[in-house]
Amino acid sequence: MKKAGTGAKSALPAFFILLSFSIAAYFLIDNSDPQASSSSEPGLLALNGHTMGTQYQILLHNLAVPDQGAKAALEHTISEKLRFLDKVVFSTYASDSELSRLNQIEAESFIGVSNELLTVLLQAREVYLQSSGAFDVTIKPLVDLWGFGDTNVLPDVPQREVIALAKAQLGMTALEINQQGDSGAVKKHKPVFIDLSAIAKGYAVDQLGQLLETLGHNNYLVEIGGEISSLGKHPDGRFWRIGIERPEAGQKLLFQQIRNGAEKLAVATSGNYQNFFIHEGQQYSHIINPVTAWPISSELRSVTVVASSAMTADAWATALHVSGLEEGIRLANDLQLAAFFIVDSSKGFKAYHSDAFSPYL
Ligand code: AMP
Ligand code: MG
Repeated sequence: MKKAGTGAKSALPAFFILLSFSIAAYFLIDNSDPQASSSSEPGLLALNGHTMGTQYQILLHNLAVPDQGAKAALEHTISEKLRFLDKVVFSTYASDSELSRLNQIEAESFIGVSNELLTVLLQAREVYLQSSGAFDVTIKPLVDLWGFGDTNVLPDVPQREVIALAKAQLGMTALEINQQGDSGAVKKHKPVFIDLSAIAKGYAVDQLGQLLETLGHNNYLVEIGGEISSLGKHPDGRFWRIGIERPEAGQKLLFQQIRNGAEKLAVATSGNYQNFFIHEGQQYSHIINPVTAWPISSELRSVTVVASSAMTADAWATALHVSGLEEGIRLANDLQLAAFFIVDSSKGFKAYHSDAFSPYL
């Protein structure tokens, strides 16, 4: 048995074009010279680091950050924000994070939740309902059981009876979410355990974008583990160039550039070619179908969604991925979601897209 996909957590690659697209979306800065490093890009400032188990990268205009002091202050503000969102709110690794405390409370008791957690839970519930449960953040017991979580369980195929027990713990309807002004309170009607990995990175991208705007940056590209939000333009005067990666682990090649004619663009991708294990010749992905309680098994390699926020794009990319190509396209067309699907066929990779994605091609 072989575990793959921890590449996303490895050291930063040397060249900017290879940076941080740990899943499937990545950005292009200078098509004419794909080997140039970001620091050598005229007028561009790249800030990067590690968060939420993956890499982040922020691109700004050099001119907007006048000196080393301003740069250091900005880096500090950004890393504090990310530390807060990761360790204080969304982490399932940190036992005292808000999410861990929510996971620990008994059924039938209420717990207060911050605006951050509330916002993500409300969005998660909306996508849960609209995707008929394909997207379900109460997936944690299964994620752990299959060895993709924060436990020491090695990735392996669990016993059927154990899978059935974990499956019985699923269901977002067991969560009562009450909004009280900016924050809220949550009650569990049965013991459910939440994993926000499929949506929290997108939310954090939006939060960083908002932070940068508050600080007066009208041109930025923020990316965490392949989830992206961009505003304005690259210093070369063109809109930021964002692409979809060819869904092959370790390759990091462009599959499709996304046409960007807007001031603001949010893009997220859900892929199954980085994080998986192989057992007896069969590949098991970290994306789990709540209906079967098994990792999805299809020729679909990645789903990319363009939406009004990176949080929405992130959640829907996972939801459509779980739904599969046919149902995913139907759902995306019904809901007018801009979605791009890459399938591994006998004739190589094949792309499909929803109607709303056409303007981005
Ligand atoms: P993403 O890369 O955004 O598609 O998120 C994948 C992660 O979300 C997995 O590693 C799991 O932690 C979690 N996950 C797996 N299956 C689901 C699902 N059906 N609904 C919500 N989250 C899921
Ligand atoms: Mg996602």
